Amino acid sequence: MTRCGQNRSVLAGIYILVLCLIFLGRNPENSHYFALLLWPLIILAGYWEDTPGALIVTVLGAITAVTGRLLGVISPAAAAADIIAMGLIFGLTVVLNRDWEARTKAHKAVRTPREKDLAKVERKARLIRGQLEEYESRLKDLIKLYEGAKSLLGILELHPMLAEARSVIARSLPRHFGAQADGQVRLAFYIPEEGTDNFQKVEARGHEISDMGFPERLSSSDLHREPDKILNPLRVEDMMLDSRLKVLAGDTAFHALMLIPLIMHEREIGIMLLASHAVCAFSAADFNQAEILGKQIVFALRKTLLYHKVQTLSITDSQTGLYVRRHFQERLREEMRRGERYNQFLSLIILDLDHFKRINDQYGHQVGDAVLNETAARLEEKAGSTAIVARYGGEEFAVLLPNTPKAKAFRIAKDINSFIKASFVDVGGVQLNITISVGVSTYPEDALEQEALITAADQALYEAKRNGRDLVMAYTPSFDHPAD
Ligand code: GH3
Ligand code: MG
Ligand code: MG
Repeated sequence: MTRCGQNRSVLAGIYILVLCLIFLGRNPENSHYFALLLWPLIILAGYWEDTPGALIVTVLGAITAVTGRLLGVISPAAAAADIIAMGLIFGLTVVLNRDWEARTKAHKAVRTPREKDLAKVERKARLIRGQLEEYESRLKDLIKLYEGAKSLLGILELHPMLAEARSVIARSLPRHFGAQADGQVRLAFYIPEEGTDNFQKVEARGHEISDMGFPERLSSSDLHREPDKILNPLRVEDMMLDSRLKVLAGDTAFHALMLIPLIMHEREIGIMLLASHAVCAFSAADFNQAEILGKQIVFALRKTLLYHKVQTLSITDSQTGLYVRRHFQERLREEMRRGERYNQFLSLIILDLDHFKRINDQYGHQVGDAVLNETAARLEEKAGSTAIVARYGGEEFAVLLPNTPKAKAFRIAKDINSFIKASFVDVGGVQLNITISVGVSTYPEDALEQEALITAADQALYEAKRNGRDLVMAYTPSFDHPAD
């Protein structure tokens, strides 16, 4: 018998002893029955706790009888009879136990550990299996997330990377974006706007997870950002009840929102917004998952923004901000191919400042630089949004007009010429009138090859110079054989 079993027998015995004494104290005339109460207890103790258990109860019973006798509640004959009877019962219990053990020996081997223990073990095993399954599914999610994040890091361009990020988010939050989802949740990414404290939305561009309804621009005050403090992740159950964030609710009245700032080196390099038309749509677990996703996306975003910066630096002229000649020629090649494939016109304008050397000579290089910058700005303004504008050489510029026939290109060139000379350029009080000479050529009528198209525009420009400057000339084949 175990120590614990013995303790139980002692406690049970004491308990019975107290009960018996109370019983005898109240009904002394029934004193001769009390031993009857102990008989089954001796047998049961023998069954549960083997011989020592039965012995403890027998001894405690004998003590009770002796105590009863000493207190005068049991007659000497009854006490003696009780003690003898209990001794006999104890003996019987020992014999029965031996017999029982002998008969069940074989079974015992099989029944150890007992069925009760087995059931307990089985319950525990079931519990552990459940936990394991849960861990396994969480691990699978994490692996999915890790794989998704890895795929993001391999994409250098901003829009494809964010499109992939949208897909990773959809896989990670299936309750909101999966097949069973109600389509109420929208997602938007914002990046810092150059030269301001604002954030501008990066278009979702036809991705199935729309960013419709989110504002195009978010200012620091829209975000209620404290000066010199970075944003904290935020989960709002109903923006309608939170006046500070109403602007984030956008035009389509979102209710629930999760704002995840994408932070690197203590700076927000982007913001991820998830919003739903339903109130309390996002759980704490969703918020947790979105924060983890944000931490994965921030690395990829940083990489694409840096890549974009390097790309921009390598293709733009640091002085005027226009494309450099090399990039312009690449774009010209692409546009020529497109014109060929889709049977479209492509016009080229090359322009050059008239007598620019004189400005340099008279006012110095710095004034000359300022004139170039102003000319570049006016040119960009007038060329239109589809035009590709470049600094082609020192004081020479080029404009590519996709899908534009010659007559239209000529009109645009005329507008540019008029616009540049329409008002003087003021450089620190020095007011200068600028004129340009312009040459225009068009694919396919003037040339079928890139180099030939440039040569044609150059020839037209040369003709404009030759004819007195401040002129726009469209190429004609007669320029190939100028009659000097
Ligand atoms: P034309 O009307 O025949 O074009 O005469 P022009 O004086 O404009 O032409 P020319 O080719 O004789 O001189 C061009 C001048 O432009 C020479 C060069 O020093 C100047 N230039 C080229 N690049 C820059 C620049 O980045 N800054 C300044 N300030 N001057 C430049
Ligand atoms: Mg010139
Ligand atoms: Mg020149």
